Formats: sequence, structure tokens, C-alpha cells
Amino acid sequence: PGRDKKYKRILLKLSGEELMGAEGFGIDPKVLDKMALEIGQLVGIGVQVGLVIGGGNLFRGSALSKAGLDRVTGDHMGMLATVMNALAMRDALERSNISSRVMSSIPMSGVVDHYDRRKALRFLEQGEVVIFSAGTGNPFFTTDSAACLRGIEMEADIVLKATKVDGVYSADPMKDPTATRYERLTYDEVLDKKLGVMDLTAICLCREQDMPLRVFRMDKPGALLNILKGENEGTLIIE
Ligand code: UDP
Repeated sequence: PGRDKKYKRILLKLSGEELMGAEGFGIDPKVLDKMALEIGQLVGIGVQVGLVIGGGNLFRGSALSKAGLDRVTGDHMGMLATVMNALAMRDALERSNISSRVMSSIPMSGVVDHYDRRKALRFLEQGEVVIFSAGTGNPFFTTDSAACLRGIEMEADIVLKATKVDGVYSADPMKDPTATRYERLTYDEVLDKKLGVMDLTAICLCREQDMPLRVFRMDKPGALLNILKGENEGTLIIE
């Protein structure tokens, strides 16, 4: 099995909101179990999986700052939120018998490993799912940037960003019925058309390092596996 797979190593970015299910806040273990299953299918065909999970289901620095908190403090809280999500995801993976590690960009001795590129590469090569948490470790960044950064460092074949919609549209498909989906875009088109796919820092980093990106809908069953087979799910962003 897996001989027909297109990618050997991927970096999958899940937003925090993906974890909260129907609730408006927090973590829904049922959603995590479903995701663990999908990720397990990839591991099963020998794909190396790095994961970056956001924290938007718990805290976002920008929102906390609007509510009056200091922005940097808010960003620290946001990054800690991603560690909580990562722990919950590791728990779900382990319950499905998928070995996994959590690494954090902020040292948190006794809870998770501190991020170390060489160690992370070794874990991936051993078939463990590596969850990169605490974003980049710096305020004013997002977990999209962290995903692209870690994807590039891990020499992943592609960064896959899971979203609520099945790709990048010319306008918000929830609001504009004439919106059409792009199958393929260049980094420059994303920047020029100001398509809010990912934050600009992340797009620029990928453009600079030639890291392909694919935006797709995670809760469509089998979507991840289809991508691994080389099928055209969502939108590909490439040079
Ligand atoms: N964050 C940060 N630096 C990083 C990554 C994340 O300060 O490198 C903070 C930031 O406040 C952000 C929050 O963590 O709002 C949660 O991450 P993000 O908003 O990217 O989560 P997502 O939208 O993917 O759930």
C-alpha cells in the first residue's frame, strides 16, 4: 500500500477552530478522534506527518488586545493555547495507537519537548507524528507562519492548510453566490488579489523557499487521502 502516494512528508496545519466542533469555544474530543483517524490513514501508508495546530478556539492575541490586554501578553496566551490543543491532539492520536510527540517553541520542561529541528526530523523518519506547538515562539506571528516555517525546516513536500471551505475562492462563498474556486494560484496572485488565504508573512516565506501550499476542507471525508494520491482537492498555491 501507499506506492501511489505523491508525498513522503507533509506539514498539516489545523486551525484551532477546527477542534471546537459545534461548540463556540474549547475542544471537542469527538472532532479530535475523527482527525486522528484521518491522520492515522496517512501514517498507515507511510506518510510522515508534521502537525501545526492553531489556538483560535481558545485565545487570540489580537482579540485579547482589542479587549484591553497588552498585545504581547495576549500573543503569549495564544501560543500557550496552541500547546493545550497539541496535548489534546496527542491524546487523541495515542488513543488511536498512533505514536506522536509534541514539541514546543517555548520550553516547557516536564510537559512537552522543546523544539529541536534535528530531533523532530528523527521522529518523523521513525514514523511518529510530530506536533509543533507554541507557534514560532514569537508574538506578532500566527500559526500559519509557524506551519510554513516548520514545513520548510522539515523539508516537507507540501504544507496543507485545512479550512472550513474547500479551497480559495474569488470572494467569500458564504456571502457571495458568484464566488468561484481557484484550482491553482501563484504566490504573487494570492498577494496581488489580496486573497485572505493565509497571512502575508506565511505566503512570502513559502514564495521565498518554493514551498507549495494546498488549502482544502478537512471535514470532507477522505480529502486528505485524496491529496496524498495527487487528486485536485481545494486550491494549490505554487510558483
Ligand atoms: N501566536 C503568536 N505567535 C505565533 C503563533 C501564534 O503570538 O508564532 C498567537 C497569536 O496571538 C495567535 C494565537 O497564538 O492569535 C493563536 O494562533 P492562530 O491565531 O494562528 O490560531 P488559528 O487561527 O490557526 O486557530
